[in-house]
Amino acid sequence: MRTDLNRVLLLALGLSTLTTAAPASAEPAGNAKATQGAVAIDTVHPGSVVRWPGSAIEWCELNGRRFKPMAGACVLSVDLDALDELIARRSSGERIDTLRLRVGDYPYKLQRLTLKDESRVNLSKPNQERAARERARLLPLFDLDTARSFTLPLAAPLETMPEGGRFGSRRIINGEPRSPHTGSDFAAKSGTPVLAAADGTVGLAEEHFFSGNSVFIDHGDGLVTMYFHLKELFVEAGQRVTRGAVIGSVGSTGRSTGPHLHFGVRWRGARVDPALLLGLGDAELSFVGE
Ligand SMILES: [Zn+2]
Repeated sequence: MRTDLNRVLLLALGLSTLTTAAPASAEPAGNAKATQGAVAIDTVHPGSVVRWPGSAIEWCELNGRRFKPMAGACVLSVDLDALDELIARRSSGERIDTLRLRVGDYPYKLQRLTLKDESRVNLSKPNQERAARERARLLPLFDLDTARSFTLPLAAPLETMPEGGRFGSRRIINGEPRSPHTGSDFAAKSGTPVLAAADGTVGLAEEHFFSGNSVFIDHGDGLVTMYFHLKELFVEAGQRVTRGAVIGSVGSTGRSTGPHLHFGVRWRGARVDPALLLGLGDAELSFVGE
């Protein structure tokens, strides 16, 4: 979800011609600054979820993708690697407000891991090809546009949620820098039931090179939850599941250092911290000032 300057510019121009009323009137708190048809706001961390409240919102738009408001607010998912984003909403009376979402750096923590199975760290050609094939199978899932069938906060994927779930760590595996961690890891005993976080349809339930036995569930409105390294899979692609249904059991399949559940979330393509949607600990949704 990287936004290059041209795209931002084009969107800004497109939106400014659409704007029939003045841009958001009240300046948000902090270092907000009015610019061409947009208002710059405080820095937002990538991997976060932002709520932009308003009255009688008809639709919200992020980088050209339009969606319905939730509980009277635009709820926006900001990808782990996002740069600045342009957002818009239309309220009754044809009013369109636009905001430039200033996206700051993600506060990555460094995590060093040692994996005994070197073949899952330095991939052979066939394994590289396999991993690429599997990645390609996921892409259509993150682009689905089905009706929303979830409520927030999501249900916990384990009956007893342990502490933990480091999201967005930079990883050094066997001494080499690797891609950042884009889910949350929860330690649990092998065989512990894994539960669906919301109603939805299983998009994929299969074994992948990195994520092992994996389940991907589409919950509509672009939300996909992911459950990795499972021991057993109890569902199959195309199956409808309800919130709290047992979909598999905790294991250590794929690239894993021991039994745990990797729980990941993509919302409208953006990789966000699952703790925000699960309402865990002190995780809080950010609010964009009115
Ligand atoms: Zn993980």
